Amino acid sequence: MEEDKKIIKEHTFKTWSKQKGWEPILVTTARGAYFYDSQGKKYLDFSSQFVNVNLGYGNEKVINAIKEQLDTLQYINPNLGTEIRAKATKALLKVMPKSITKFFFSTSGTEANEAAIKITRFYKAPSYKILARYRSYHGATEGSISLTGDYRRWFVEPHTMPGVVRFPEPYCFRCPLKLKYPDCNLACVNYVDYVIKQEKHIAGIIVEPITGTNGVVVPPKEYLPTLRKIAKENDVLFIADEVMTGWGRTGEWFAVNLWGVEPDILTTAKGASASYVPIGITGVSNEIGEFFEDHVFAHGHTFEAHPVSLSAIPAVVEEYERLNLLSNVKTLGEYLGKRLQELKERHKSVGDVRGVGFFWAIELVKDSKNTPFGTYEDKYEGRPIFTDYLAKKLLEKGVYVFSGPSWFVISPPLISQKEDIDLGVNALDEVLKEAD
Ligand code: PLP
Repeated sequence: MEEDKKIIKEHTFKTWSKQKGWEPILVTTARGAYFYDSQGKKYLDFSSQFVNVNLGYGNEKVINAIKEQLDTLQYINPNLGTEIRAKATKALLKVMPKSITKFFFSTSGTEANEAAIKITRFYKAPSYKILARYRSYHGATEGSISLTGDYRRWFVEPHTMPGVVRFPEPYCFRCPLKLKYPDCNLACVNYVDYVIKQEKHIAGIIVEPITGTNGVVVPPKEYLPTLRKIAKENDVLFIADEVMTGWGRTGEWFAVNLWGVEPDILTTAKGASASYVPIGITGVSNEIGEFFEDHVFAHGHTFEAHPVSLSAIPAVVEEYERLNLLSNVKTLGEYLGKRLQELKERHKSVGDVRGVGFFWAIELVKDSKNTPFGTYEDKYEGRPIFTDYLAKKLLEKGVYVFSGPSWFVISPPLISQKEDIDLGVNALDEVLKEAD
């Protein structure tokens, strides 16, 4: 066991981090909303790992569907058809926003966004610029990291892809424009219309409908429909990055449904297979699909439309339905939100609690002026930050949470029950005493 840890530490990379000081926990098994380490210690997963283990662990129906596919056909090149590809597509057409009718399958959220960039540029040529928000994460490769506005993620490669234009986020807790909702009249989104007209050659706008890794920023209710309208009026593609927000996380199949918004392109991953196998999906509208009848779709991977990845999709959709998870998330999500709001009342270190469904952030502050605990700069310099320290304390107590520089992302598996939520919130209540 110690030998395994040593090999992992010495010969594999810990990501987004200096390697020094990494002490990996050896996880051996997992069931439901819990995972276990090599010592048999039990951990509640209170964040679905990186907001992706939506069905929890050990779902037999999904596992069997994958095994069956492995027994039947493990791989065939993507330009040949498979039964599972038709079945997965049918399942997607059932749950996706109506505007999305054609799909490209890859193996991660990053690749789904890379494909979205290329499709947007093919379709809108000669326009090529893409608008993205400062507070955003769209993936780790050169194109998707260039879209990413979160500068904690930039090291040597920021802006290597030309044509990215950024705009401010609807982060009302610390408004980048120093305004207050609703008196602001949504200046942050109305400004986008001006940017498009000044910049020219804008091909598309990409947003996470609810900002994820950058602290679960739920926009005001008018925000997304207004942005959608601005995109349409200016003949610019509207791309919803639902890698994190899709698949029941918000109590809807996709977060755009919360506001009745229909995107031109929707990218997703994580919950599409509930992370039983790697998958990325780039969905496009009928109009975009038709464009490629006479234009080369100049993109593709060996593992594209991989039968084993695709086999998870219909099984996962069936499980979301059989277990009534959207309704579980709506009902228990309110309870989770209420319990997290109580933490705000009990702890002066909690500055803001925001979210919807099973997708919440609690943001920590140093004082009554809402000074953040960890700043982007702290992380950038690689210094230890307070939320990471508290997350470690939580892990010692047997609760895993996904932490950002000054917030925790609370996003339990969608199968979680009231007692799981109570266990997680009570552990947070304990460790937050150290922050007060
Ligand atoms: N887009 C968003 C909104 C994400 O949250 C993530 C990952 O967290 C990605 C893209 C990248 O997905 P992946 O890590 O599967 O490449």
